[in-house]
Amino acid sequence: MTSSDTGASPVPPGSPLIFDGHNDTLLALHLPERGGGRTFFERSDAGHLDLPRAREGGFGGGFFACYVPNPKDEWSMEEATVFSDLGYETSAAPPLDPIYARETADELAKILFKIEDESRNRMKVVRTAEELASCLHDGVLAAVLHFEGAENLGPDPGVLEDLYGMGLRSLGLVWSRPNAYGEGVPFRFPASPDTGPGLTDAGKDLVRECNRLGVLLDLSHLNERGFWDVAEMAEAPLVATHSNAYALCPTTRNLTDRQLDAIRDSDGMVGVNFAVGFLREDGQDEEDTPIETVVRHVDYLVERIGIGRVGFGSDFDGAKVPREIGDVSRLPKLLAALRGRGYDEAALRKLAHENWVRVLRATWGG
Ligand SMILES: [Zn+2]
Repeated sequence: MTSSDTGASPVPPGSPLIFDGHNDTLLALHLPERGGGRTFFERSDAGHLDLPRAREGGFGGGFFACYVPNPKDEWSMEEATVFSDLGYETSAAPPLDPIYARETADELAKILFKIEDESRNRMKVVRTAEELASCLHDGVLAAVLHFEGAENLGPDPGVLEDLYGMGLRSLGLVWSRPNAYGEGVPFRFPASPDTGPGLTDAGKDLVRECNRLGVLLDLSHLNERGFWDVAEMAEAPLVATHSNAYALCPTTRNLTDRQLDAIRDSDGMVGVNFAVGFLREDGQDEEDTPIETVVRHVDYLVERIGIGRVGFGSDFDGAKVPREIGDVSRLPKLLAALRGRGYDEAALRKLAHENWVRVLRATWGG
């Protein structure tokens, strides 16, 4: 990684670049009310991720999600959430109109390709594990195009192959709402991820199609029965791009020990989510959350599924993260905390990006 545009880089020499399982930066760039009207190429203090801050923080790239929110008049997280002494319960978001979902997802994908075009080779949308490895080697920001929710395909899932041709390499069957393929977990704490029925027949067909094409199937947001349906059919390692350990933070969005064991047995992986609500034992959406809380989830996951099966899935620009991390430029603090906890350089390289490269190679082929 070259030095940043804003002075000395805090990234220690030899520190591994971080490749990350999830960000919502495309939506932040698309909606000024979310992103503060910033661009990807100028350093901003708004939100979490832009190119200058990525370079400062040793962020080598990640999954760029096309996430389509429900129209505001239809559902909002704030209005749908009821708090109690113990935690909270959010009523399920209604399904999206697939035509609206497809149009919005296309807008978001267009933003990603426009960034690539305008980046003067500083960013690339990667389609193979070789391209990803080269980008990490050369310090080119690597982006994986990800659809968060298969309603983004529109009314005809047959377009998946065309989208694959365009560069789509990762698909979450659902966000936290139902669609034609399955049901995502409504946000609840404390509550089990077993919130409803498994995949529909169309969902199972889509799993087969992802197997055939070599599209990564993301299990984050999927309810537990859907998870087991995918686990039964998947021909690739099981992957949750941005989820944490339910044993440490019992929210519907996290993975139970049984789910973690299935991920381990498939030689898959989990990207640790920095969203404070999915990290903290009390589930509170509180920025004053020590960086050690992230380290605890890494420790737990490494202990349960192995150092070769854990990475990061920050949820930058999609969630509240611990103040000590703040944004992508302060990722070196997290690596320092992990070093302090006893992870050696070989382990840090695995967590930082090697596990992602391995799993993507196994999933995409080649
Ligand atoms: Zn998400």
